[in-house]
Amino acid sequence: MHKKGVVIPFFDYNSNNAIESDTVSSENEMGITKEKESFEETLTRHDEFFVNMSHELKTPLNVIFSATQLMEMSLTGDEKEANKARVLNSIFSIKQNCYRLTKLINNIIDLSKIDAGNLDLNISDVNIVEFIENIVQVSSRYIKVKNLKIIFDTNVEKKVIACDYEKIERIFLNLISNAVKFSHDGGTIFVNVLDKGDSVEISVKDNGIGIDEQSLANIFSRFSIVDKSLSRVAEGSGMGLSLVKSMVELHGGTVSVQSKPGLGSIFKFELPSKISFIQGNNDKMLNQEEETLKIEFSDI
Ligand code: ADP
Repeated sequence: MHKKGVVIPFFDYNSNNAIESDTVSSENEMGITKEKESFEETLTRHDEFFVNMSHELKTPLNVIFSATQLMEMSLTGDEKEANKARVLNSIFSIKQNCYRLTKLINNIIDLSKIDAGNLDLNISDVNIVEFIENIVQVSSRYIKVKNLKIIFDTNVEKKVIACDYEKIERIFLNLISNAVKFSHDGGTIFVNVLDKGDSVEISVKDNGIGIDEQSLANIFSRFSIVDKSLSRVAEGSGMGLSLVKSMVELHGGTVSVQSKPGLGSIFKFELPSKISFIQGNNDKMLNQEEETLKIEFSDI
């Protein structure tokens, strides 16, 4: 006789089935535990992301705020000429931090476009060798801060492929700015464009701090930052490499990384060698570079 309201579990008294059903239930339990662990891991990652994001947003805002205060104070004094250098310095700092916020906001917008499946490519035919070499040349001005050297090499002079040059520039500058951020003073960055026939491989190699094996496994995941302390050597939100991966994949390409702690890293992306028969606008390509560089290098 069973009491009303008590739940009676179904049980097959055939002993084999009993073992089977036991196994199934422990498998289910394991499945639930795994799901719970992965859910908790996602929550932790999201929490870490928001703590980091608010730090990332507040730091440049605080700098903008104090710079404007300093400018105000300087301009109310009598000795305006003497203050000019200080004001110019403050303006530089304001601009730099505006670029930094622009980068952060651009990345957030692009990530949400990717999630919604509407980050479109603006395809045209581009001589990828010349395009990358040109970015390397302009970048060299920005990497002098750390006394770094940048070396470009290629196995072909010309290789025209169909791509969205603005996205390729973002992808490439992201890898270069990471290489700069995580290099030691006086280090060298090697950029190589390799024509592989059916594809083109672009690599960025540094001899900086490198990445440990465990962090390497998730390096292209969103919000993955190796050093999570707020006092870390380099700033960043952990969105860059996940954007790089998505943008390369939108082109039908692949990304990869090899790294050894203490020795350095090499990031590669490979793009299919296709032609669209749409002519790229060379002037526009070169003119927009300077502004994009200021944005992409703003957190170095
Ligand atoms: P962020 O926007 O913070 O730079 P990324 O997605 O570009 O984010 O990079 C994620 C993390 O990967 C960085 O915080 C850093 O720990 C690590 N990383 C990326 N590139 C390099 C590199 N060249 N050398 C060492 N660590 C790197």
